[in-house]
Amino acid sequence: MTTSFFPPQRTLMGPGPSDVSPRVLGALSRPTIGHLDPLFVQLMDEIKGLLQYAFQTNNELTLPISAPGSAGMEACFVNLVSPGDTVIVCQNGVFGGRMKENVERCGARAVMVEDAWGEPVSLDKVAAAFADHPEANTLAFVHAETSTGVRSDAEALCALARDNNALSIVDTVTSLAGIELKVDDWGADAVYSGTQKCLSCIPGISPVTFSQRAVERIQSREQKVQSWFLDMQLVMGYWGGSAKRAYHHTAPVNDLYALHESLVMLQEEGLENAFVRHQRNHHALVAGLEAMGLSMAVAAEHRLPQLNAVNIPDGVDDANVRSALLNDFNLEIGAGLGGLAGKTWRIGLMGFASSEHNVLGCLTALEAVLTREGASINASAALPAAQAHFSGQ
Ligand SMILES: *Cc1c(COP(=O)(O)O)cnc(C)c1O
Repeated sequence: MTTSFFPPQRTLMGPGPSDVSPRVLGALSRPTIGHLDPLFVQLMDEIKGLLQYAFQTNNELTLPISAPGSAGMEACFVNLVSPGDTVIVCQNGVFGGRMKENVERCGARAVMVEDAWGEPVSLDKVAAAFADHPEANTLAFVHAETSTGVRSDAEALCALARDNNALSIVDTVTSLAGIELKVDDWGADAVYSGTQKCLSCIPGISPVTFSQRAVERIQSREQKVQSWFLDMQLVMGYWGGSAKRAYHHTAPVNDLYALHESLVMLQEEGLENAFVRHQRNHHALVAGLEAMGLSMAVAAEHRLPQLNAVNIPDGVDDANVRSALLNDFNLEIGAGLGGLAGKTWRIGLMGFASSEHNVLGCLTALEAVLTREGASINASAALPAAQAHFSGQ
């Protein structure tokens, strides 16, 4: 007989999902009600308001797509991009490659602007691409590249798109609630995120927001959106603010209780305070890692506080270390992706998991495992360095 599944209590310090707060898990287990129940409709309105706060936007079309971040990505592309369009796609890690796939599957042409993994998107290259392709009507880029731990200048990229009469599609899956993100001030047009990174909610929901310019483009499409499920004109009838909600699909009722709770927690803390907390824990972690003798993979000015890429010391077996952390310490950190596989670890400090406790725990576990692996590190240096950082603040 197959029996119930009881997962272990891990500490999730990889590229996501991140640790989910007990408050959010508690909300998830509340009684399921109908998705057209008047009380649920009220909850949907509150979620919309809370998401507008998280995204710093007044966009009317702001809602959670009932599917993971990748579906939010696809929703932005299939609604904004039509066959024959030219889209400038920035790639400096894994996720830009997926954007290209999306553009091509929409029957459009992707003009690629490539930067090395570990570097931010080059504004000069994007400007040059617009100069070479005046027909381009969309710019797509990733704000926080989770595969490398790099932040790109989203504000400047959105401005470049506007200056060239293009709409911007912005991946904020890892940036939302972790680093500054100002959808309205920056003039971002189609923005998608995920719930399992810095919101520390369960995986499987994708908050999105569309500017008025994006809505106008969607409404003036000549061809139907090829995806029925992600067609915003239809989804709007369900999530739209007014009067009667039309059935589109059954919302993941309990998942949305969880999202609501995580957004309430974000509001209680305040966005600015959340950013400060992410910065502080990041600096303490880096201080500890460097004191241990490890080096960071990304230049200081481009680092994401929520995703720390660390160079794996020579002679150390990547997989051994990660499995020892998991098996002996219940601690998950991320492997490198693509060209960085075997070369870097990715240590997440996202949302609820971005805590002093996790910084100190991770440094302790990593030091123990690396010592056992015979790596030449400075023993006993990491904790004091991190602690000095915490007490110095
Ligand atoms: C995690 C992630 C995604 C994909 O989100 P899923 O929820 O896994 O579909 C997209 N973009 C970035 C930058 C991410 O970090």
